[in-house]
Amino acid sequence: MQLKDKVAIITGSASGIGKEIAIEYAREGAKVVIADLSLEAATATAAEITQSGGTAMAVAMNVTDEAQVDAGVAQVVAQFGGVDVLISNAGIQIISAIVDFKFEDWRKLTAIHLDGAFLTTRACMRAMVAGKRGGSIIYMGSVHSHEASPLKAPYVTAKHGLLGLAKVVAKEGAKDGIRANVICPGFVRTPLVDKQIPEQSKALGISEADVIRTVMLKDTVDGEFTTVQDVAQTAVFLAAFPTNALTGQSITVSHGWHMQ
Ligand code: NAD
Repeated sequence: MQLKDKVAIITGSASGIGKEIAIEYAREGAKVVIADLSLEAATATAAEITQSGGTAMAVAMNVTDEAQVDAGVAQVVAQFGGVDVLISNAGIQIISAIVDFKFEDWRKLTAIHLDGAFLTTRACMRAMVAGKRGGSIIYMGSVHSHEASPLKAPYVTAKHGLLGLAKVVAKEGAKDGIRANVICPGFVRTPLVDKQIPEQSKALGISEADVIRTVMLKDTVDGEFTTVQDVAQTAVFLAAFPTNALTGQSITVSHGWHMQ
């Protein structure tokens, strides 16, 4: 067990990539916190993990709400005794050309990805410093932390921004043994991507099959989607890594779509 008794808060973990990370972390012995918008959905995921023999708790947390983030992290510290790992993963996608992009949509997306990353980082770093046992902060970036695509201006902007935040956290956190890294997945079949396929098909005037073949997987080495398991394995590796040698980095998991 690579994460025995580590307390890991995973935002947006009632679904998709975050949920798989929570399942994998629990298998590796971590006490996982399912932090998501809906307490009901978070509780259902936590119950699945508990029924499989893991340790999990659910917290209702809108990552853009300062008070909810601070209260949620305090609840975790009270129940599990500290925080060792934060996976800042909650995210959404909104597709539109810049000329048609609604300002409120720009603000909504960047708030979840960037304000959410900042607020959860601040609360968890405070808990990690107080706990005096270091920690690992992992941001869910994207190939879009390094590459751009049309129709995704706020997403690409926010995912690039996470690289900067991780580097600052790496520098500020080092003295307290806090590491920060970014995982950059290619396309993964989750609700976030399944919603985009018909939207992109409409926006680009091509079939859904062509969105997958000629847009999403075009630059991979083998035409394959990345899986939630691929991302979860990378998240285990980063959280279990024992020293500050691996900090301020991004790791791309994308079937070669982006090569650093
Ligand atoms: P998903 O839609 O399956 O899950 C996202 C989760 O985030 C949901 O449970 C949702 O309720 C939660 N969430 C949304 N807004 C929130 C908020 N304000 N506060 C708390 N939780 C909130 O999506 P996913 O594909 O698993 O995406 C997870 C992360 O991975 C996102 O940051 C996304 O940008 C990133 N990512 C996804 C892909 C992909 O292809 N699916 C690729 C690269 C990066």
